[in-house]
Amino acid sequence: MYNVAQVIEDKCVAKKGCRLCIMYCPEANCLDLNVARMVAEVFINRCKGCELCVVVCNAAKHMAIEMQAVSADGSLMSHKGESAALGQAYQG
Ligand code: SF4
Ligand code: SF4
Repeated sequence: MYNVAQVIEDKCVAKKGCRLCIMYCPEANCLDLNVARMVAEVFINRCKGCELCVVVCNAAKHMAIEMQAVSADGSLMSHKGESAALGQAYQG
């Protein structure tokens, strides 16, 4: 399991011109503008989990990117699934 960045679309202000995360992501073809929805979008198979996008987005007080766990098969794990798994791990 590893972590990748995910944009919270409701909070992303790309439609107002913000491109901070896209400019700062060091990985090519990883973070880009989804022009259909006008939000930033992470291609999770390219993301290296460096969290730089989270830092710059939070520094601008948008708080629109969070890190999410990816399971071994490459699918995103929801927070619900993640906490359930943690809960199970801590059951007696
Ligand atoms: S830095 Fe944050 S608000 Fe700006 S485009 Fe990226 S995700 Fe959206
Ligand atoms: S975590 Fe790093 S590699 Fe992944 S999208 Fe953000 S800046 Fe790019």
